[in-house]
Amino acid sequence: MPISLDTAGSGPSMKDYHCQTQCTWCDACGDYGVWTAIKRALVELKLAPWQVLLCYDVGCHGNMSDKLLGYRAHGLHGRVLPFAAGAKLANMQVPVIAFGGDGASFSEGVGHLVHAIRSNYPITFILHNNANYGLTLGQASALTRQEQPMNASPNGIPEHTLRSMEFVFALEPTFVARGFTGNIPQLTEIFKAAILHQRCGFAFVDVLQACPTYNHFATHEYLLARCFDANAEGHDPSDLHRAHAIAVDTSRRISTGILYKREDVPSFYDRLVPRKDVTTTCVEEVGMKDVSALWGDLV
Ligand code: SF4
Ligand code: MG
Repeated sequence: MPISLDTAGSGPSMKDYHCQTQCTWCDACGDYGVWTAIKRALVELKLAPWQVLLCYDVGCHGNMSDKLLGYRAHGLHGRVLPFAAGAKLANMQVPVIAFGGDGASFSEGVGHLVHAIRSNYPITFILHNNANYGLTLGQASALTRQEQPMNASPNGIPEHTLRSMEFVFALEPTFVARGFTGNIPQLTEIFKAAILHQRCGFAFVDVLQACPTYNHFATHEYLLARCFDANAEGHDPSDLHRAHAIAVDTSRRISTGILYKREDVPSFYDRLVPRKDVTTTCVEEVGMKDVSALWGDLV
């Protein structure tokens, strides 16, 4: 079932997404970049705030639920994917975008990420990847460099750093992209493609972003010096082996862009036999039923 995209008329403007609530993010936080790019993407897709569902995990990024209009849900730590997927399956007409941090997504919520990718849920997931837990004052996440002193682990962490792209590719994804908040035009295009991929399944977007308050290793300048646009250099997103290779090797340069995409795998919804040829949404089918007769002698 296609997502609704009203391409007629002039569409919404950036102002339509504006919210009066004051920002609490630190100066130069990468969250500002995601905030700007997602607004631009939604506007360029002609999606108005009343047409989209924005789901947030807990973390600094989650404060965006107060700063960006739209239908919004802000859930428990690590649990954004289950409720975003549930909402989408209930109403396939609505584009659903889930936002989560690297801490929640690769620790508390890692099981949900596994099953979201392997299930090919038809939603877009935007990973705010600043390689630490910013909201709780700079603790190491699974994506923090092992040797990096952090506030709760001044000697580094005992565990090795999780290789997130190896992990994602092992789950047979249908869409993998990586962006950087220092390149808003590219990030906007990535977000647009990831939202449109909901027609096919789950879109995973890793957004590298600075946390100038607590992440003193992968700074904005560090990322700016290393990120390159792989698509501009001729990378073909249908080439799985090349996509995997440039996704996992960040030793010298960091590839960004749409790294991998395939559209021939049915989404979770499209594989649900009871929903085959059903034209209504689950929310349209909800109604009041009188079940008192079923209770019989019990009542
Ligand atoms: Fe952004 Fe880091 Fe400040 Fe949180 S602590 S608002 S992630 S800069
Ligand atoms: Mg983080």
